[in-house]
Amino acid sequence: MLSNCSQDDSSLIETVAEYNPAQHPGIQLAFRTHVKNFYDEANLRDENPDNIIGQTIESLKMIFDVDLDEQYCGYAYGFDNPFSDPFVVISTRPECWGERNEAERELLVFHELGHAILTRYHDNSQLPSGHKKSIMVSDNTLFTIYADNETDKRNYYLDELFDPNTPEPEW
Ligand SMILES: [Zn+2]
Repeated sequence: MLSNCSQDDSSLIETVAEYNPAQHPGIQLAFRTHVKNFYDEANLRDENPDNIIGQTIESLKMIFDVDLDEQYCGYAYGFDNPFSDPFVVISTRPECWGERNEAERELLVFHELGHAILTRYHDNSQLPSGHKKSIMVSDNTLFTIYADNETDKRNYYLDELFDPNTPEPEW
């Protein structure tokens, strides 16, 4: 139902609202594909009950910030305040975005959405193997957590993002 179903196929029942990033002008263009992927990954894992993530994305504002404090590449404001809308900024510094590849950009966006949408806090704990447990790490090791071709690792870290009780991986 998230793929390109034919419109003629009225027998298919939509159980998950289609998320169209173009309808969310508060999310700057550069981030929309990653936000949509976040939404799709949540649905793949059945971690979007009552479309709660879609509803939160409705009120999400996500923009570049030229002035963000240099200790951060991204920042999620007030995510633990239930009365404020989710608001994420991403630094325009090259080492935060322009010089980063797609996997690194995804890690940054997903980390910030972990705060803003999933209300997760930082977690710097390690797996027995020495790998980080979560992409909710508080430092720039974030960018090394998985690479474009590391599908198994990405799957684990996205499982863990949506469910911190995910069993430890084999590796
Ligand atoms: Zn963070």
